[in-house]
Amino acid sequence: MSKFLALGKFSFGMGDRFSHQGKAQLRACLLATEAGADIVPVWNKSNREHLFIGTEPSSLRAEADAAVKALDWKKPYHVDADHIRLETVDRFVAPSDFFTIDVADSIGKPADPKSVKAFTDRHPELIGMIGIPHIDRPLETTRAEVERVANKFLLAVQDAGKIYRHISQAKGEANFITEVSMDETDSPQTPPELLIILAAIADEKIPIQTIAPKFTGRFNKGVDYVGDVMQFEKEFNEDLAVIAFAINKYGLPATLKLSVHSGSDKFSIYEPIRRALKKFNAGIHIKTAGTTWLEELIGLAEAGGDGLEIAKEIYAYAIEHVDEFCAPYATVIDIDKAKLPAAAAVNGWSSTQFVSALRHDQKNPAFNPSFRQLLHVSFKVAAKKGDRYLNALKKHEPIIARNVTENLFERHMKPLLFGEAVPAKL
Ligand SMILES: [Zn+2]
Repeated sequence: MSKFLALGKFSFGMGDRFSHQGKAQLRACLLATEAGADIVPVWNKSNREHLFIGTEPSSLRAEADAAVKALDWKKPYHVDADHIRLETVDRFVAPSDFFTIDVADSIGKPADPKSVKAFTDRHPELIGMIGIPHIDRPLETTRAEVERVANKFLLAVQDAGKIYRHISQAKGEANFITEVSMDETDSPQTPPELLIILAAIADEKIPIQTIAPKFTGRFNKGVDYVGDVMQFEKEFNEDLAVIAFAINKYGLPATLKLSVHSGSDKFSIYEPIRRALKKFNAGIHIKTAGTTWLEELIGLAEAGGDGLEIAKEIYAYAIEHVDEFCAPYATVIDIDKAKLPAAAAVNGWSSTQFVSALRHDQKNPAFNPSFRQLLHVSFKVAAKKGDRYLNALKKHEPIIARNVTENLFERHMKPLLFGEAVPAKL
């Protein structure tokens, strides 16, 4: 495996659509560090988000560098070109040092039959009974099954290889971290499929350090996990076992770990994840993004006055365009339209009412997951407001920053990193 920039064990992806919360986000990482966890901040922004907001990838680098300087952060940090493909990667090459290569679109497109046969011939170890430490029963596969999986994923992995080599030539292989993402697809990848995918990635000589599979269950935007938590835990543990096995077997980077996309707000699986990581002494990359934009809205609403006013305007526009805004996100939101309050009702709300409906506090009876999900996918409305929105962010910075930091640290990092063992002083 070639040289590569190594990624730390616990890394936290943070998205910041409007580029004003870098410091508030980094402050959450500082709190985690003070509490005894080594956490690596990674700022991520996808091509799609840059297009929606009208920003250049270099602006994310500028934001990360400025936050690091302002808070005197001495440890590693990275800038992630999130969900890039061959057609979109070029403007990300210079400012990014972490690349999430998205090959989900190629999953299921049949690979060249010759390469499927060559792959299967090259990997007799994948056929039959495969004993993997920490998985109760050996995985059982047949040649036909390996061919089926190769046929489904090999083209995607070959595409990932092409994109990796393209970045490597432009940037130098030692200068970046590679993630391969397969989460934006229809069906979850099973642990045996993951093993076959990793064998193929090793064949492509991609020094992969994080892989984002699609997990079982629904990872809706900005709300809790929906699905069978026990089944998730079982598969998550098996994925970790497969990764440890593949690192040894195929010489993949020892730093290879799972990446959980749409990882924010999945409170009911944080404890199972934490337990599994402890058991395997494994690391993790948790990718969050939109949760920070929602904290901006919460902060604005909490500020009252013109802040609350703009939050209400955004909701009023969003509910008027509910179908249009939700359509592109159909697989990652579950909105009950009957639970969406009318704009006129929301216009009469106090700060407390708006904040209670939006803030992800499941114990609050006024919390409204449908309201929250609709606003999650409505950041374009804020983008359209341009300077008026950005000026509101500046004016109400302290209250917004407090919400952003608290959300990442209290609701995300603490349960993921410390669980019940949160140091008393916090
Ligand atoms: Zn993703």
